Amino acid sequence: MNTAIVLAGGSGKRMNSDIPKQYLMLAGKPVIYYSLKAFQDNSHIDNIILVTAEEYIDYAKENILDKTLSKVSMVIQGGMERYDSVYKGLQCIKEPGYVFIHDGARPCISQKLIDDCYTNVVKNGACIAAVPVKDTIKIADAEGFAAETPDRSTLWQIQTPQVFRYDIIKESYDKLYAAGRFNGVTDDAMVLERYGEYRIKLVNSDYRNIKITTPEDMNTAEIFIKDTF
Ligand code: C5P
Repeated sequence: MNTAIVLAGGSGKRMNSDIPKQYLMLAGKPVIYYSLKAFQDNSHIDNIILVTAEEYIDYAKENILDKTLSKVSMVIQGGMERYDSVYKGLQCIKEPGYVFIHDGARPCISQKLIDDCYTNVVKNGACIAAVPVKDTIKIADAEGFAAETPDRSTLWQIQTPQVFRYDIIKESYDKLYAAGRFNGVTDDAMVLERYGEYRIKLVNSDYRNIKITTPEDMNTAEIFIKDTF
């Protein structure tokens, strides 16, 4: 059974909004609706777990979930950090299969991307959506001066979904929690890089699969969402 864990547990401090970004309205629906719908409509996905802040569990059940989102089997409470929310979702899965971990703040996820990730995870056991970096990237020193310039041709910007065979990602997360060293964990692939033995395939994604983070991202998403749904 293949599961999508859709993350909506963040508070969205960088949005300067009282409402978390996943619940802001985008083209007439809450942001979170779109990624739930994308997984609902994909034939590779059997089950969806929505992870959200405690105070939004009832809101989501009453205002977002309806019979068109029938694959959503659980709405669970998230944790303090993104990795805590992911781990809570992973612990709800009881059957082998593939797990698609997706930021609910990325509404413009296409069916093609889900399909491509599925093909790649079946082949490789672990894969993540990514796009080549367009800008030159610099590493800064502690005083805010440019210290180093990595070779741009090797740099990728990492998105979600991040997709894994369930046993591989669960084992890596179990090891992360057993070690208790969480510093710098911003995505799931990092957990596998630290504690797993699998290579993680980069799946060529789409520049439209943006993560809504700051207020101007909502304007961009308004345009991209029309191409996606
Ligand atoms: O904060 P950031 O933009 O990196 O969050 C990425 C995704 O992880 C968002 O969809 C957010 O709702 C989710 N998240 C979560 N639980 C947290 C923090 C973030 O589910 N504690």
